[in-house]
Amino acid sequence: MSLHEVVPGVHAWIQPDGTWWVNNAGAVTDGGQVLIVDTCATETRTRRFLAAVDEATGGSPARLAVNTHQHGDHTYGNSLLPATTVVVGHEHMREGLRVDPVIDGCPPLWEPVPDWGAVTRRLPDVTVRDRLTLHIGQRQVDVVHPGGPAHTTGDLVAWLPRERVLFAGDLVFNGLTPLVFMGSVTGALAALDWLAAFEPAHLVPGHGPLLTAADIAPVFDRIRRYYQLVLDTAGEGVRAGLTPLEAARACDLGEFAGWADAERIVPNLHRAYADALGTELDVVAALTDAVTWRGSLMPTKV
Ligand SMILES: [Zn+2]
Repeated sequence: MSLHEVVPGVHAWIQPDGTWWVNNAGAVTDGGQVLIVDTCATETRTRRFLAAVDEATGGSPARLAVNTHQHGDHTYGNSLLPATTVVVGHEHMREGLRVDPVIDGCPPLWEPVPDWGAVTRRLPDVTVRDRLTLHIGQRQVDVVHPGGPAHTTGDLVAWLPRERVLFAGDLVFNGLTPLVFMGSVTGALAALDWLAAFEPAHLVPGHGPLLTAADIAPVFDRIRRYYQLVLDTAGEGVRAGLTPLEAARACDLGEFAGWADAERIVPNLHRAYADALGTELDVVAALTDAVTWRGSLMPTKV
């Protein structure tokens, strides 16, 4: 993992290989002030990230932090930020982390079972519904919600309009299977157009390598085709009376078979089914079906 200076003073923390619980984060600095974008899943990984930011930025404690969404790989490390850091998140993200049971004990779905270390639940101090502008030194950071459920119900991006850098969170998985089961497949599809309209020069995805402007259209097109496959497979599965797991087993992943975390087809189908049928999604059932589809526990490195 390493800290990349995307443009002067704007840093992306990229953690290969981006699989389950292995996320990207970032930092923006100017005039001795620091803003953090997301933390990491574990104490060890978050301390490593914050130490790299300290080294790159001169060690000022972060004034502000933004959580792009509720998932633990982006938020469990919040408690390791200085007590004086003001944490900003979407209102649905705050509620999602407040009731998240996984920080208290991870269910045996991954191998190894993640060890979070000494982290505690730390919720945002400031919540956002639509948008908010933060100022760090002379820099402007717009924190914006895509308008509806996408990766989750409480996604935010952090956009630097002058530098044209977009921290997209998990609205973008670059080079591995996207996960949308706690949001919306159609919402995630629409969010790609919304993201592209920012016309970023640099995009920091939630998982996977950094993107520059020229990469964005082909990468987004591929993700669009994946979401369409999920929607088509769900439509056929519902008509044929298949369960999401049966529909996943009947689905030819084609060009997406080589993406890591292919088992996410199962929870993604659970989401498409729930939205098609107007039912509630059971998170643990969706992930348990993913393990069944794989025939083994899901891989992680935390
Ligand atoms: Zn996520």
